[in-house]
Amino acid sequence: MHKKDIKSYKNAFLIAIIYFIAGALWIVLSDVAVALIVEKAEDITAIQTYKGWFFIFTTTIGLFLLSYYFFHTMYINYAKNIEESKAFLKTKEELSESKETIKFSQTELSRHGKLLNTIINGLPEAIFAKNLDGNYILFNNGASDMLNIFPDEILGRGDEILFAQKEAANIQEEEQKLLYHKKIITREEIHIVNKQERAFLTTRGVLLDNDDEVFGIFGIVRDITEQKEYEKFLLDSKEKFYKLSHINHVTALPNRLSLSEFLSEKCTKNLPFSLILFDLDEFKIVNDSYGHRFGDKLLLEIANTLKELFGSSVFIACIGGDEFAIVIDSNNIDVITILMRKLHATLNNPFKIEMTDVYITASSGVCSYPDDVKNVDELYQAADTAMYNAKKLGKNRFSFYDAKFKKEAITYTKMVTNLKHAIGKDELELYYQAQNSATSGKIIGTEALLRWKHDGKMIPPSIFIPLAEKSGLIIEVGNFVLKSGFEMAQKWHHQGVFDGRVSINVSIRQLTHLDFLKTLKELLFESGCKASWVELEITESYILENPKLAIALLEELKELGFNISMDDFGTGYSSLSYLKNLPIDKLKIDRSFVTNIQNEPKNQIIVKTIIFLAKELGIHILAEGVETQEEQEFLLQNGIDSIQGFYYHKPVCAKEMESLMLG
Ligand code: C2E
Ligand code: MG
Ligand code: MG
Repeated sequence: MHKKDIKSYKNAFLIAIIYFIAGALWIVLSDVAVALIVEKAEDITAIQTYKGWFFIFTTTIGLFLLSYYFFHTMYINYAKNIEESKAFLKTKEELSESKETIKFSQTELSRHGKLLNTIINGLPEAIFAKNLDGNYILFNNGASDMLNIFPDEILGRGDEILFAQKEAANIQEEEQKLLYHKKIITREEIHIVNKQERAFLTTRGVLLDNDDEVFGIFGIVRDITEQKEYEKFLLDSKEKFYKLSHINHVTALPNRLSLSEFLSEKCTKNLPFSLILFDLDEFKIVNDSYGHRFGDKLLLEIANTLKELFGSSVFIACIGGDEFAIVIDSNNIDVITILMRKLHATLNNPFKIEMTDVYITASSGVCSYPDDVKNVDELYQAADTAMYNAKKLGKNRFSFYDAKFKKEAITYTKMVTNLKHAIGKDELELYYQAQNSATSGKIIGTEALLRWKHDGKMIPPSIFIPLAEKSGLIIEVGNFVLKSGFEMAQKWHHQGVFDGRVSINVSIRQLTHLDFLKTLKELLFESGCKASWVELEITESYILENPKLAIALLEELKELGFNISMDDFGTGYSSLSYLKNLPIDKLKIDRSFVTNIQNEPKNQIIVKTIIFLAKELGIHILAEGVETQEEQEFLLQNGIDSIQGFYYHKPVCAKEMESLMLG
């Protein structure tokens, strides 16, 4: 029998014995008590009944209490057992669930591990981790490729394997700081790898465990050497491009673009300053005589002189071939005047280039901000106008901007517009001036001189021809002159009025125009005029502007059959020996040498020399602007071939010229 069953048996037996003893005692004792208390026998029966009922009542209560205790205990045990078995079942379930979770987690963990591993090793960046001793605990394929070492060779070891001692020490020091500050730091580093200097972008941070305790550092490194080289290349290119676009290559001074940026900035600050523009008066002659290399050296020398004169605080620029700009932080006229005098005095000193003393002059214009102009656009224009004025006044001087220049500019624009319409409106007309033989006095030639009748006034060619040249209208105007001149020559020859040549002035702008020869031939052909009836006059100074080109063009004209004369001879300072290279038929001595020649010994020598030389070279020689008999006589005595001047005839209209020719 089971231990618990024995105990239950004992308990039941004990209860039965107690019940038996209590019942027996009750019966015996109650009967004794009844016999003692009750005297009457009939009462004993009734009391026996009550005693019996009382026994039943108490045993019933006892039975009830025992049953209650028994069932209650049984129920509690039962409930407890149920709870315990339930709890047991739950724990079992949970246990199996946990097992599954652990299994799942393990699978997931390995999956994530693989994923992480693939990512870490697939990245081109170097990814590493080190423990607190500085030994590598992670070294991905990127790091392996970058540093050319297998992970096995480095894992468990430190930076001394990878880098030179000093470099490794620096890294260690850096990482110690990181461990202290616990920050993530990204920076660019240079390291020597495989004996080559390479640039890296490195991010380092600390590794924390579950308790937030530092247990190492991690790093992500990108090799940015190529990127850095490209950035440097871009930067260099940008700098080079900036320099190229902002520096004048001959003088190494800032150029026009630099000047305009500088001026814009100055105007934004709204502080007073002055802009000085100047250019060299006869730089072209220097260039043509000594060559461009020599000219460049002169410009460089001027640039250095300017730097010495004004110091580094003043902005100096070279804005064109021979054009310079200076910006001074003052608009005080007295201060600027002193500076300008100093500038011109300095420029007037000879410059020594290749052992040669070069004398040069300059014309300059000054414009002050904000007194003369209010914005940067007008500034340059105003200084340029002032410089133009200095040139107009005879060069080698400076001029301050004057508001009247603006009016002149407006007048200029108006005149250009009017001149443009002049051809269509029949306002242009050719006048003719006779060229007389010095010996016979006969008219041997005639020069066509253009006249412009506008609004009832006669505008002189000295005004409108430069205007036409400057505005480009000279092409149209020149074609009109050629057409009218050819037609007149054709008419006079055809009608037998005149057998000499008609001289037509040709501007160099016309001559060098691409279509010139084509147009010339067309106009000649259309007019029916022969080239041999015409002489083309080219001004000496124009020929000097580009002698090689001029010679080539003049030779073509000669080939077409035209006569060529050099106009205003003596004003262009051409060397006389140069003449022999020019394909010219006639020299026209400028009026400035002829006027009052009988009283000008120097001019007499010049004119005599020119006449002598022309004769030696077989060139016809004419004197312009002869007004008096004294002048005519002097020239005649010295062997002049022909004369053009008021002494014989003033320029007249074609009709009058015709009468003169016939008369
Ligand atoms: P130029 O070709 O040297 O013409 C001679 C100028 O001297 C003319 O002035 C003429 O009137 C002037 N003249 C002639 N003899 C005397 C004299 O005895 N005394 C004075 N004081 N002057 C005299 P103009 O007609 O005023 O022409 C001036 C310049 O304008 C010309 O100088 C020429 O360079 C230019 N020009 C005139 N017509 C034309 C043209 O059709 N085309 C071009 N490109 N230029 C022209
Ligand atoms: Mg002329
Ligand atoms: Mg002339």
